[in-house]
Amino acid sequence: MRPEDILVPTPAGVCCKLGSFHIDPTRPVERALITHAHSDHARAGHGSVLATQETLDLMRLRYGDNFAGTTQAIRYGESVNLGGAKVTFHPAGHVLGSAQIAVEANSLRIVASGDYKDVADPTCAPFELVLCDVFITEATFALPVFRHGDPSGEIAKLLQSVALFPERAHLVGAYSLGKAQRVIALLRQAGHAAPIYLHGAMEKITTYYAERGVALGELRVVRGAEKAELAGTITLCPPSALSDLWTRRFPDPLTAFASGWMRIRARARQYGVALPLVISDHADWNGLTATIAASGAGEIWVTHGQEDALVHWCATRGLKARPLDIVGYGDEDDEATPSPQGSSESDGGSQA
Ligand SMILES: [Zn+2]
Ligand SMILES: [Zn+2]
Repeated sequence: MRPEDILVPTPAGVCCKLGSFHIDPTRPVERALITHAHSDHARAGHGSVLATQETLDLMRLRYGDNFAGTTQAIRYGESVNLGGAKVTFHPAGHVLGSAQIAVEANSLRIVASGDYKDVADPTCAPFELVLCDVFITEATFALPVFRHGDPSGEIAKLLQSVALFPERAHLVGAYSLGKAQRVIALLRQAGHAAPIYLHGAMEKITTYYAERGVALGELRVVRGAEKAELAGTITLCPPSALSDLWTRRFPDPLTAFASGWMRIRARARQYGVALPLVISDHADWNGLTATIAASGAGEIWVTHGQEDALVHWCATRGLKARPLDIVGYGDEDDEATPSPQGSSESDGGSQA
């Protein structure tokens, strides 16, 4: 049996004919297995969805109760048989509920990792290495220039700035699902005990994280707060809100942006971000290459992002590798970048 007899890339996403399902389909399908709730992986309108409870809940929060015909929750480490394929979900360390999906048939194992990171994150279960024959990896930050470093150093920079400018409001642009909650949890780990403010677009998801036991401390929504009350505080908002009229309610706002892209100074400048924070929920170059090597896979399939460099790296290591060329996976960090200066949007939007 060849890997392509188990999983085959199609325009709608990776498809398992044996089990009659797609993984993270980009179009509506009969049966979808979903790695995590980011909008490019988790779309509404499938006949049935199999995912972790958190992913199902987050999809419901985003799309409403009727986001799929039927749903089925699966736990990490749990296996189900679908047709002739055995399917097991493992933690991906990317956001709350995120999973790698291992598909096995005839003692051949393929792992579709979705988005992942191999570093500690107080808001989700840690990445689990799953040995496999074929590893499907993302390539969002697959260039040697991307080294994310230690996020606690970036959080320290933010707290230094707050201490230095107690009369100003600090606005931190961060993706609404995952990044915002991770930044809040990291601030708490660093000892920042003051209430943290939220843009309205982040309220539901952040409340859900807290309900699932992620320690986020006291949170307040910006809506209705007095301008003076916001001096010396930290507010999390969708990156698009940083260039919005919305910022006028804050006293002398200082803008920060938490993203792996902040490693590139030109990006921070382009968006007028005063305080770039290199914090990413994706593996960096070292993380990607180390994970690929450790997976034991002899064959690597590469999706969304900088496929070329990673495919080339695999070839130099004697690994068979190919880009999957599935249209529709974006990078949530990239989607969520602030509008270039001068333009303005009405509100943060649920995508940001
Ligand atoms: Zn993602
Ligand atoms: Zn992705």
